[in-house]
Amino acid sequence: MSKPPISFEILSKDGETRAGLLTTRRGIIETPVFMPVGTAGTVKGMRFEVLEDELDARIILGNTYHLWLRPGVEVIRKCGGLHRFVGWERALLTDSGGFQVWSLGALRKITEEGTQFRSHLDGSLQFLSPEISMEVQAALGSEIVMAFDECAAGDAPPEVSRQSMELTARWASRSRARFDSLQSDSSDEGRTEATHEISGAQALFGIVQGGAHLDLRRESLNRTTEIGFDGYAIGGLSVGEEKGAMWRVVSDLAPALPAAQPRYLMGVGTPEDLVEAVAHGIDMFDCVLPTRNGRTGQAFTSRGKVNVKNAQWASDSMPLDDSCGCSVCKRYSRAYLRHLIVSGEMLASILLTHHNLAFFLDTMRRVRQSIRSGDFINFRREFTEGLNAYEQDKALSNT
Ligand SMILES: [Zn+2]
Repeated sequence: MSKPPISFEILSKDGETRAGLLTTRRGIIETPVFMPVGTAGTVKGMRFEVLEDELDARIILGNTYHLWLRPGVEVIRKCGGLHRFVGWERALLTDSGGFQVWSLGALRKITEEGTQFRSHLDGSLQFLSPEISMEVQAALGSEIVMAFDECAAGDAPPEVSRQSMELTARWASRSRARFDSLQSDSSDEGRTEATHEISGAQALFGIVQGGAHLDLRRESLNRTTEIGFDGYAIGGLSVGEEKGAMWRVVSDLAPALPAAQPRYLMGVGTPEDLVEAVAHGIDMFDCVLPTRNGRTGQAFTSRGKVNVKNAQWASDSMPLDDSCGCSVCKRYSRAYLRHLIVSGEMLASILLTHHNLAFFLDTMRRVRQSIRSGDFINFRREFTEGLNAYEQDKALSNT
């Protein structure tokens, strides 16, 4: 039998919660893992050496849509793939572009063949299909490629969600077929030598859709696993549905995803969401929150989310989070960080993004440790209680 492109070993299991090792051709990733989002070939505000050396991020995400439009496939191919182009040596996961195109709303038109849309850069007419997405992701040379999917709005009625789910299933088959032919004709720019365990080829993940409708989700799961993928993602959540609907889908679907393969919850979420989803058996996450909020002056801390612009921090000499070991919290005070934000200094975004990513990655490290030591339930309770500390302080001071 031919070798798989990735291997996944579950080291500890506690109920549905699992801690494992995901071996890719560019490194071993401990799971559950949070993947920082590197939209256009950069995790905004972060140098890759800091992500590697201090934060020890093992895998980051790249966006097919953005990189395809700019700098374009030809530039990235000429530079030897995305790893070499951007200077990141570790693992990459690329999304398919389906979600970004979906987010363009009225600017897009979906047909059986694919999606036509206007570029957000220059308004030019563009067309993305499962085949084109697979070709772009081969040129990028990521370790994990995502199937091209269609996402229905979170509050879409059943008939709209059904059409979208069925289209996603047909596109998943086309993604699989084009992906396989690209792997056999050496179009993958990131290919490595095989090891005793893995093949050196790209891995392909399928995406389960179906909106907030559990029956559609189950049907999507069956159709996706029938095609067969190296890992499975839950897509189309955190897109405007109410929070309860998201958790109904995750708690029903996550334990039903194939147990021997990685399970990825796309685009979710806050620190408490990550811990909650881990409890339902999710292994992989990505979200723009730590980077995007870092740029708008919001920090995630062990005592909850804070707006660093608030006047209450103006002369506060404490670190952002005194239980955080990151280099920002070791050196800089809340007062200084607030001053940088209020003054519009670019260092503000850099330092807050750094801390936020450190907090997310450290939270996942603690999640993994607690699963391995059989203490996840206690960790989850204490962590979640901690996140409410600022809110409780506020409530007390108002009484
Ligand atoms: Zn910190």
